[in-house]
Amino acid sequence: MKRMLTGGFILLVIMNVTVAQQTAQKSTEADKITPGMTEVWEPEVRIIQAGVKDSDPPSDAIVLFDGVDVNREWEDSKGNPTKWLIQDGALVCVKGSGVIKTKRKFNSCQLHIEWKTPSDVQGESQGRGNSGVFLQEQYEVQVLDSYNNRTYRHGQAGSMYKQHAPLVNASRKPGEWQSYDIIYTAPTFGTDSIAYLTPPRITVFHNGVLIQNNVNLRGPTVYIGIPEYFVKKHGPGSLVLQDHGNPVAFRNIWIREL
Ligand code: MG
Repeated sequence: MKRMLTGGFILLVIMNVTVAQQTAQKSTEADKITPGMTEVWEPEVRIIQAGVKDSDPPSDAIVLFDGVDVNREWEDSKGNPTKWLIQDGALVCVKGSGVIKTKRKFNSCQLHIEWKTPSDVQGESQGRGNSGVFLQEQYEVQVLDSYNNRTYRHGQAGSMYKQHAPLVNASRKPGEWQSYDIIYTAPTFGTDSIAYLTPPRITVFHNGVLIQNNVNLRGPTVYIGIPEYFVKKHGPGSLVLQDHGNPVAFRNIWIREL
């Protein structure tokens, strides 16, 4: 018994010595690492020209509306010129004319868009200053006059309609320009499935305030029912602006593909 204990003690001492030697060796190796060994220089990060103001399009953005020409980038749902009007450099929804959509199709993107609900306040809840920005034709960021205008929380301005309420209500008064800065990650799909492999994700700033923080979407926006995680596989899609019957105005729309 005594011999076994003595043997165990010797083994323990040898193990401790070995660990100590390894630690000392690692420490010596770490001492040899220089700062330059962890610096990555190539390839150089692509240089672009930022706008003078943060709301200006940077040099690598696609300008979707510059206040002058709408038909260069937009069309109605049937591919015809839109009936939306340009007034004072803004693009204004005309009731009953239908949605407008970009001729180009996009996947993941950074989007800047400014919007204004009518200063002549009419209607309430979902009937006041309603429009919407749809990513890939499917996922609506709600546009609504949410200044002193209660509605269901996941249907107010900045909501991912009926899926995520905004973190806060950062709305300005009707008749004042507001902005959305959106970072959108398109979903991916499995090869033999119609379910998302990874769902769409979105981050939204409303007037510079974070209101959606990288939230997952359950499925395409629906008015009635519950969005389904099992969805029809889709590729790139147009950016769509909603005609909800209210003369909401838009300006300074630009997008960067990611
Ligand atoms: Mg809407």
